[in-house]
Amino acid sequence: MPHSPALSGRGWKQNIMPWMLRLPAVCSKPPEHRWCSAAATLILRDSFFAFRADLTLLPDHFGLKCPPEDFRENSPDGVSRKEYNPAFPEVAVKRWIVLLTILCSSFCGWTQVIDRSVPGTLQVATFIRAGVLIDGVSNSPRRNQVITIRAGRISDVSDAGNARIPAGVAVIDLSQATVLPGLIDAHTHIFLQGEDPAEGGYDVQLLKYPLAFRAARATVSVRRALEQGFTTLRDMETEGAGYGDVGIKQAIEGGYIPGPRLFVSTRAISTTGGYPLEGYAPEIEVPKGVQIIDGPVEARKAAREQLDHGADWIKVYMTHRSWVSNNGVGKNAELVSQPTLTVDELRAIVDETHGWGKKVACHAYSGEGLQRGLDGGCDSIEHGLVLTDAQIAQMIRQGTWLCPTLSVYYIDWAPADTPDGQRDRKRASEHEVSFRKALKAGVKIAFGTDIGGIPWSQPIAQEFPRMVEFGMTPMQAIQSATSRAAELLEMKGQLGVIAPGAYADVVAVSGDPLADVKLLENVGFVMKNGQVFKNEIGSKR
Ligand SMILES: [Zn+2]
Repeated sequence: MPHSPALSGRGWKQNIMPWMLRLPAVCSKPPEHRWCSAAATLILRDSFFAFRADLTLLPDHFGLKCPPEDFRENSPDGVSRKEYNPAFPEVAVKRWIVLLTILCSSFCGWTQVIDRSVPGTLQVATFIRAGVLIDGVSNSPRRNQVITIRAGRISDVSDAGNARIPAGVAVIDLSQATVLPGLIDAHTHIFLQGEDPAEGGYDVQLLKYPLAFRAARATVSVRRALEQGFTTLRDMETEGAGYGDVGIKQAIEGGYIPGPRLFVSTRAISTTGGYPLEGYAPEIEVPKGVQIIDGPVEARKAAREQLDHGADWIKVYMTHRSWVSNNGVGKNAELVSQPTLTVDELRAIVDETHGWGKKVACHAYSGEGLQRGLDGGCDSIEHGLVLTDAQIAQMIRQGTWLCPTLSVYYIDWAPADTPDGQRDRKRASEHEVSFRKALKAGVKIAFGTDIGGIPWSQPIAQEFPRMVEFGMTPMQAIQSATSRAAELLEMKGQLGVIAPGAYADVVAVSGDPLADVKLLENVGFVMKNGQVFKNEIGSKR
């Protein structure tokens, strides 16, 4: 049985030889790949053996399918000898050694390709020296650590004394800085721009701005977030910009624009009378900032549509307008909010969304709407301005998250002697009380700002001092924006932590944010996915 030319001995060896010669160069450099050097040595040794003996190493030989006369044909002098016959164990063993080393070397080559596939990780590994490391999970910082990054992930974190950094590899020196995991804002609106009333407020964005204009501004918003060290956002709806967030996410993932990794919720859902635009003549049909549903069938259908078009989360408005009862007079004056969806409507959404393996975030201020949110099975309560003790107990029982967004309730207060002014002040004062109670009771709290409601020109990290003012330790506030927020996103161990296996999302600040949490407004180093986006404090060699 003659061998086909493509598989016959010499042609096959000519194909494999460039591979073999390349292997020692590929494998010998980093210490972690030294086993590859050994493999390469074996390959060279065995290929030398193979040449000398003129073995063919063909797959059909390994399958022992060759008739005996082939061993004679393959031998230089046409005489059948032991070294050409794989039926002899030592010959078979040598051939298996060669095969396994080839497989091993292919793997080395493959890992090289993976390294090159992630922008900014052309080197096999990047090392960061961290003067102080807050890893996002531990309650105490560690000093003098070395973080190893490979192929966009953290592969090792160790004491500087134990770390072996090979000569000639990239080292980012943050030994004079505090290093933290990339920050997570779990409540943003990249398609909102602070709604300056002088510029037409909320309405003008939906009525007059082309979607491309809004998308262009969203592109700036995500860049702003990344510059400030927020490497992940949970964006809580596009405010009339449809599925624009899915498009921005695609552009970031495709490397067309810089930005954080996005978890998007697309259009959001409320009921008739439950969301702007409002106040226009009934004869005029105006766009809405959300998808309007009435009834469980429409509710489920809206969730299906949004999930089908790329929503990572479903956002539901469980309350709408709010005001202070009793005209703000006396002890009985309380913050009231208009409920929107019924429990049945919400349950249809939650049931559908959970079936897709996704979660439901519920905007809820207080009262009946917030209660329906909890009874209907919301995974997170957004804002939660007035939380009763019973509702806090229910949140703990059900494992419901609170994403408080404190800062946004301290901007643009109307004059104190107006109903809106009373409402604005009541929102802020009630919110502080609820936040303190929820924190004390152990409700799971994730950092969120509602930025977009706040102009993107302002620092996102303004939320940290507010959380500390209301009772969190700086470390708790940092964890709410790192490991806790990652847990909310079901990315525990992958985001919000500096530990082996996590995405290499790393930021750094000068100074000690545990002593002054406001320092987090000045993030000077940002790495996302192992790629340095900004470096104003760390020297590189
Ligand atoms: Zn919001």
